[in-house]
Amino acid sequence: MCGIVAAIAQRNIVSILTDGLSKLEYRGYDSAGVAVIASAASTQIQTVRRTGRVAQLVAQISADKVAGTRGIGHTRWATHGGVTEANAHPHTSNNNIAVVHNGIIENHEELRAALQAKGYVFTSQTDT
Ligand code: GLU
Repeated sequence: MCGIVAAIAQRNIVSILTDGLSKLEYRGYDSAGVAVIASAASTQIQTVRRTGRVAQLVAQISADKVAGTRGIGHTRWATHGGVTEANAHPHTSNNNIAVVHNGIIENHEELRAALQAKGYVFTSQTDT
């Protein structure tokens, strides 16, 4: 079962996200990721996703020097789409929104078709 964590503060919240994801590991997962922005005024979302353990995600976050004051994190238990980095959450659109979700979106094909008709591009095979 997946895990979701979110944080907002006046300091760097990346360790809050990753500590939260570590605490959720017991639920089981196959991949993990975070998306953060530097501040409320930021237009750039930094996203890091990895298959495997949260520790591998943390190592990549450290290497990429990811930091921010607002963010979301997710541990994924794949139901739709393989265990790949592209399918790991968070998923972004035009780098101005990032989403995670838990469980199954039953009408995802219908929603996907409607959004694709509006020009949205999907880069994962998930139901998110
Ligand atoms: N159905 C979504 C996926 O396969 C979310 C699974 C989960 O709850 O982690 O990515």
